[in-house]
Amino acid sequence: MAISKPAFEQGPIRPPNEANSLLLRLTRNCPWNRCLFCPVYKTKKFSRRSLDEIKNDIYAIADSVEKITEISHSRGSGGKVDRQTVALIHAEYPELMSVAFWQYHGGETVFLQDGDSLLLPVEQLIEILGLLKEKFPKINRITTYARSRTLLRRSVEELASLKKAGLNRIHVGLESGNDAVLDLMKKGVTASQHIEAGLRVKDAGLSLSEYVLLGLGGEKLWREHALDTAEVLNKIDPHFIRIRTLAVRPNSPLAELVEKGDFKILPDDQVVREEALLIDNLEGIKSTIYSDHILNLLEEVCGKLPEEKSRMKNIIDSYLNMPERDRELFRLGRRTGYFRTLTDMENEALVSTVEDIYRQVKNSGFSVDQYITQLLQRFV
Ligand code: SF4
Repeated sequence: MAISKPAFEQGPIRPPNEANSLLLRLTRNCPWNRCLFCPVYKTKKFSRRSLDEIKNDIYAIADSVEKITEISHSRGSGGKVDRQTVALIHAEYPELMSVAFWQYHGGETVFLQDGDSLLLPVEQLIEILGLLKEKFPKINRITTYARSRTLLRRSVEELASLKKAGLNRIHVGLESGNDAVLDLMKKGVTASQHIEAGLRVKDAGLSLSEYVLLGLGGEKLWREHALDTAEVLNKIDPHFIRIRTLAVRPNSPLAELVEKGDFKILPDDQVVREEALLIDNLEGIKSTIYSDHILNLLEEVCGKLPEEKSRMKNIIDSYLNMPERDRELFRLGRRTGYFRTLTDMENEALVSTVEDIYRQVKNSGFSVDQYITQLLQRFV
């Protein structure tokens, strides 16, 4: 069955923890679009959506909610969006599916797309937030992406007015706290600007998520990347630190640097050492670390600072202290989807399956790292 488009526009990405949120598109793509490591919007042009377009989308979503409620009543679910209603909508009204999925998950959270929503005038954002709250009173969390440079164009008072209108959290791509890395990757922002922007968000009473990209310094700058990123995070003390791991997509600007030999990709084990150095140097902050991305090798390195810091470090040490063959096996199992955490290495059936793949890789003449590099490109 062909999937019909919803009656409103949606962009390509959202943070993993917004999987059950309504996605409302305020701008298309990214106004900067120069970061060497980022493949998301590279072939697409940035544009702002007009206030009318966005408001019409909110009305279209409200219409969809009404239709879904009617369908639920007519099929005996009493207006509730339960499993039966979702299955029916999936089969018969696919254009309503994204709204039905949102309703099924409570209809309480919204993510504003795409890469830098705060570029829109504050008055427009306030109007959009107000209309969302009016049409969907159950909403209790609205979040968005914003660039640090854009945040610096907004005063604390303006950001606080967005908070008052209903915005709860801002997700910022910090990536690195090292200026040489930020410059090399054309991030278009400095470490001190990241700090100022992050503090401004917090001063406005908004929740702040900062994304860190492990491996971004490559072999040359991994140590500075880890230490300076920790220092910037210590100065911001964001509510959330979200860990990501670099994977280089073929034909991307960063892949060209790799081909020329100007950037050397950090092998998995070295990325884990970098992560250890980063976490070891996070001091005096109360952030919660999340590792909610498939590209991260050690997904279980997550927790609240400072109380769970030693647990996170112990997990990293457990991995680094494993014999080399076990580390290769774990990496292969994780990247092929058989393992999720280090404890999966205690599951004999899983280990036996991964050992079969391990032998095949070795017999093919590839190293485990070469094989994994190819696998990772599929996730980028
Ligand atoms: S600012 Fe964000 S979305 Fe834009 S190119 Fe950089 S990483 Fe990608």
